[in-house]
Amino acid sequence: MLTSGKTKFFPGYEIIEGFHNLYKLIYSTKSMPAPRLRSRSLRKIFRRVPGGRTLIHFKRKKPKAARCGNCGSVLKGVPRELPYKMRSMAKTKKRPERPFGGVLCSRCMRKNIIDKVRQ
Ligand SMILES: [Zn+2]
Repeated sequence: MLTSGKTKFFPGYEIIEGFHNLYKLIYSTKSMPAPRLRSRSLRKIFRRVPGGRTLIHFKRKKPKAARCGNCGSVLKGVPRELPYKMRSMAKTKKRPERPFGGVLCSRCMRKNIIDKVRQ
């Protein structure tokens, strides 16, 4: 069932396309966010507040995932967090505790060590 028009779930927003609980929303003129929030570098989070209203919170987007320096695959065990969160995090939480941890993936690290031993 396609619906359109004003929505009670997101006050100030209007539905342009809707199907069950998946909606594509646009701003109505009532709730235009402040100019500093109209930025593509921010992500919108719909937060339901105790009063029953749904507010839009704007948060900075997370940086891209860390990648292996050799093969380019995504590094596991390396958190994808903003610098201010990384700063307060323990060193052991920021990379795996092994040689080349946080720089090379485990497969590349293993290959690197084996190659060096065989030289
Ligand atoms: Zn790799």
